[in-house]
Amino acid sequence: MSLGSRQKLQPNRSVADHPGYDDHEHVGFHHDPESGLDAIIAVHDTALGPALGGCRMWAYETRTEALEDALRLSRGMTYKNALVGLPNGGGKAVILGNPKSGKSEALFEAFGKHVETLGGGYVTGEDVGITPADMEIVARHTEHVRGIDAKGVGDPSPYTAWGVFCGMRAAVRHRLGRESLAGLTVAIQGLGHVGGRLAALVHADGARLIVADIDPGRVSRVVSLYGASVLPVADIHKARADVFAPCALGGALNATTIPEIRSKVICGAANNQLRTPGDGAALLNRGILYAPDYLVNAGGVVAIAPASEALTGEELKARISQIQETLAMVLRRADAEAVSPGIIADRIAEERIAAARDARLSA
Ligand code: NAD
Repeated sequence: MSLGSRQKLQPNRSVADHPGYDDHEHVGFHHDPESGLDAIIAVHDTALGPALGGCRMWAYETRTEALEDALRLSRGMTYKNALVGLPNGGGKAVILGNPKSGKSEALFEAFGKHVETLGGGYVTGEDVGITPADMEIVARHTEHVRGIDAKGVGDPSPYTAWGVFCGMRAAVRHRLGRESLAGLTVAIQGLGHVGGRLAALVHADGARLIVADIDPGRVSRVVSLYGASVLPVADIHKARADVFAPCALGGALNATTIPEIRSKVICGAANNQLRTPGDGAALLNRGILYAPDYLVNAGGVVAIAPASEALTGEELKARISQIQETLAMVLRRADAEAVSPGIIADRIAEERIAAARDARLSA
C-alpha cells in the first residue's frame, strides 16, 4: 500500500446519526490519493460469518449518498445471506467514481489492498459498475474476493435467474395451485443479464411471455427466440398476465403502479422492488402475492459464496432450488398471520442472526 494510502474512520457520530445506520459493526472510509481510490466499506453484521457482498462503482453526487448506499446495501446483504442459509453476514463496498471513465488498474489494486486490511471480515465481489475483469485486479492483493473465474462461477446472473424461476414456481403453486408455469402468462420488465435468462426458463416451462425493455435489441431477441408479445415500458406492469416479474431497476412497485397491476403473483430479480414499506401492505390488500425480492434473487450470492466453492454446477442449482422451500414456508406463515411475506422474511432472517449471535456469545 502506498504511504499516502490510509483507512480513515469517519467520526462515529456522523455515521451513527445517519438514517441508514443500523448498528453496523464497521464503516470504513478508504482513500488512496495516488490511485484516486475513494471508497466506503460497510460491514453490517458478522454473527453468521464473514460479511459477503459486492462492490458497487457509481458517480454519486454526494458522499452522503454513497454512505447511504453502503449502509442500506450492507444491511440488505445481512438479511439476504441469513434468509438463504449462507454462513455469511452482510457487507458492501462502494467506490465513488464514474465506472465509464474513472477506472484504472491502480484504483482496483488499491481497493484490493484495502479489502485485505479487513483480514477476511469482508468478502467482496461484483455489483453495479464492476466487471469480473476489475475483480481479477482486486484479487492480486486479497484472497477475499469472489465472482472471478479462479474462485467460483464468474458471472452469477444465470444462477440468479434460476433462483427467481424456482421462486416463481413456488409462488404459482401457492397462489394459483399450479405445479408448473405451463399455460400461464408471465410479464417480464427488463431483459438484461437476469431477465433475458429468466425469459428462457419461463418459456421452456411452457409459459407465454409479455416483455418490455428500454433496449429494443433485447426485446427483438426475446420476441424472435420465444415468440414473446411486447408492451411499452410504461405499461408492462399493467399486463394481463398471471405473473409480473420486475427485472430492471428498483421501485417498480409503488403507489402509482400497484393499483394498476393485474397479475396475482409478483416474482422478479430486481433489488428493492417496493418503493416504501407500505407498498407491501398495499399489495397484500389487493390480494397480490409478492415474493420478497431479496429471497428470490439470492441465487447469485449463493453461487459466489465461499461455501459453494466445492459444488458442481448441478449441485449449485440444487442448492439454489431450496429457495422454493424457503419461499413456501414464508408464504404459509404470511397467510397464517395475514401479513405481507416481506415481514415474515425479515423476521426469519432476524431469528437466524439472533440465534447465531447467542451461540457465539455462549461459546
Ligand atoms: P442488467 O443491467 O443486465 O439488466 C437490466 C435491464 O433492464 C436492461 O436490459 C435495461 O435495458 C432494462 N431496463 C432499464 N430500465 C428499464 C425500464 N424502465 N423498463 C424496462 N426495462 C428497463 O441487470 P441485471 O444484472 O439483469 O439485474 C437486473 C436486476 O436484478 C437489478 O435490479 C439487479 O440489482 C438485480 N439483481 C441482479 C443479480 C445478478 O446476478 N445480476 C443478482 C441479484 C439482483
